[in-house]
Amino acid sequence: MSTPRCGVPDVHNHGMLHSISNYTFFGGSPRWSKYDLAYNFLPDSLQVVSFQVLRPVVARAIGFYRGDHGDGIPLDGPQNILAHAFSPPDGRFHYDADESWSSNPTRSQVDLESVTVHELGHNLGLDHSQYQSAIMYPLIPLGPIKRNLGQVDIIGLQALYGY
Ligand SMILES: [Zn+2]
Ligand SMILES: [Zn+2]
Repeated sequence: MSTPRCGVPDVHNHGMLHSISNYTFFGGSPRWSKYDLAYNFLPDSLQVVSFQVLRPVVARAIGFYRGDHGDGIPLDGPQNILAHAFSPPDGRFHYDADESWSSNPTRSQVDLESVTVHELGHNLGLDHSQYQSAIMYPLIPLGPIKRNLGQVDIIGLQALYGY
């Protein structure tokens, strides 16, 4: 059985521009303008503690879906693909409703918050990182909790948005 993962395909292993960095962006480095997004940093740190997408169309686009759900990228039932999300200015975020989600996962469950932080990274404009410590690493094993941004993720967000 393969390790469960995010449904966003890995495309940066083919010599793309940003492959020299630990973080990657989507083609064209799409991001939200400051009018689309509000975000906050933890005092005395560079860690993003919260953000809010201000466009109503995006707020409606997060939810649990099953199988073929209309965006051309079907979800696949239990395990393997857990969720997928779209970069700016799309911002849709779809959990696979067939997973065993939990906020306190056993070894056979998926940590809801870990996957949420990863997919929100895509919503903000980060693509996958090849570094296992990064929240944007595409493989998300069942059981373990990985909710904190890695240094690589923070540097990537700073590069995209400034601070
Ligand atoms: Zn992903
Ligand atoms: Zn979808």
